[in-house]
Amino acid sequence: MSIAGDPNVDQPVQRHWKFRWEDLATLPAKGERHVQPRGGAFRMYAEGAFKGFDIECLPLLKKSVKLRGQGRCVYCGGTHDAAGRPLKLTSEHVVPEFLGAGLELTASSCDACQTKTSSFEHALSEDLFGPARSVLDIKGKSGTLDLRHIRLDLGGLTSDPHVLPAFHHPTILILPSLYPAPAFSSAPVGIDHPYAFWMYNINADKKALDQYDIEAFSTQTVDQLRFSQLLAKIGHVYGSSYFGVGSFQPALTQLIRGDYPIADPNPPREFYSHIGCLWQCRDYDGKSECLHEIQPGSINFNGKLTKAVRIRLFSCFDMPSYFVALE
Ligand SMILES: [Zn+2]
Repeated sequence: MSIAGDPNVDQPVQRHWKFRWEDLATLPAKGERHVQPRGGAFRMYAEGAFKGFDIECLPLLKKSVKLRGQGRCVYCGGTHDAAGRPLKLTSEHVVPEFLGAGLELTASSCDACQTKTSSFEHALSEDLFGPARSVLDIKGKSGTLDLRHIRLDLGGLTSDPHVLPAFHHPTILILPSLYPAPAFSSAPVGIDHPYAFWMYNINADKKALDQYDIEAFSTQTVDQLRFSQLLAKIGHVYGSSYFGVGSFQPALTQLIRGDYPIADPNPPREFYSHIGCLWQCRDYDGKSECLHEIQPGSINFNGKLTKAVRIRLFSCFDMPSYFVALE
């Protein structure tokens, strides 16, 4: 088993990670949450304390909820174009639609920013979340994803994509567990790799894979840069609505609006410095009836108070909480 991996191109860069099973007898049990590698996590840094306000629970059954926009683009702050005409602002989903969430901030994204956010969201919707979306029947803008397009990676350090019938595609939802972020801990800038993966085995099963003579496979690749952009976006958009645009100096808009093709090198390491996990905040994890949870709050680190948002995707599968410092 290893946690290093590569993207689906022949260029090894460190932003991509996957988890590989060399021996299918060691697959985690179906319907359970596991952390791999086990015992790999230990506390090394002093970290801030999160104080959360109201939890926004996004239900398994998609429900449309509209939050009021603030009359400007939440990413670039724009209100008018170069010719002085008012910008057309469209509604922005706080959690992307492809993750089954109906929470929207009305009139809050200009065309240019929307194009940028949809490029990383589109990539994540197929790469990281594709199989889970398909198995859970989560419908996006264009309906349910056809699993015939999702490749199972049989390779190790390089990718070796195969396509299996949808009902036998081994689907393990995998999310990285991160170090606490430098913005709210004593961790140095540059701690930008996961220390473990949390995984939920939805349907992977040795017997089914034996039929195809598959002896080893890797999970979906986590593109940590795009995943961080997604967390930054959710935190920033929700925080802008909850706290109000202008109530904090936004720290995340450059990361969110960045365009990072899959083969690009990493952005400056400071880009990861506002997003991480808090190891002493595990009270927030555990069984949840929500599909996703979002919770505004503040993080107090060494007496400095920072507006923050806790984000827990797939909380019903007992996945980790991420903390995003907004300023
Ligand atoms: Zn904009």
